[in-house]
Amino acid sequence: MARSEDDKSVQQEARDAIDASKSRRALKRLGAMLDDPKNAALRNGVVKEGQKRGVVFPDELSAVPGKRLLRLARGREQSSRIRANPIAKDESFICNHCAADVPAHGRTARNHCPECLSSLHVDEVPGDRLSQCGGRMEAVGVALKNGEAILLHQCHRCGQTSRNRALLDGNNPDNWKLITKLSTRGHS
Ligand SMILES: [Zn+2]
Ligand SMILES: [Zn+2]
Repeated sequence: MARSEDDKSVQQEARDAIDASKSRRALKRLGAMLDDPKNAALRNGVVKEGQKRGVVFPDELSAVPGKRLLRLARGREQSSRIRANPIAKDESFICNHCAADVPAHGRTARNHCPECLSSLHVDEVPGDRLSQCGGRMEAVGVALKNGEAILLHQCHRCGQTSRNRALLDGNNPDNWKLITKLSTRGHS
């Protein structure tokens, strides 16, 4: 069998395992299966499948029991952990892109530089610091929603997009000139 077909069937098996792990009994059985070194390929497949679904796994993957791996791959543990406990601090920083010395905002945490509007791809959801990407998130567009300017950011490295409220108040409000250029570009 060709290698790519082989990989495909492992991925299919991994998807089946993730989807089948809904009941506790199945989770226990499939988890034990993944803990068997014989099934390393399937274990990798489960991780790959989870990553495709946007799950970020812990670094020490080999230490994670199969049962938990499946739960993570299904996105359950992840989503509850992320949303319950975001870390968003309002602090000063030096911009990685334009080197602006940015003061803390004063009311809320910033997620982009007020001068060049860029940020780093460090979050999966705002404030969680769970992404390993580290690419530059560039402001590529702007939309108005309920009277607020929402910036559309896109990562140069992996292409992920996110929407972030422009901060027009506080210390060093966002560069309004640059924001208007974005909207012009968006319409042309
Ligand atoms: Zn900057
Ligand atoms: Zn990225």
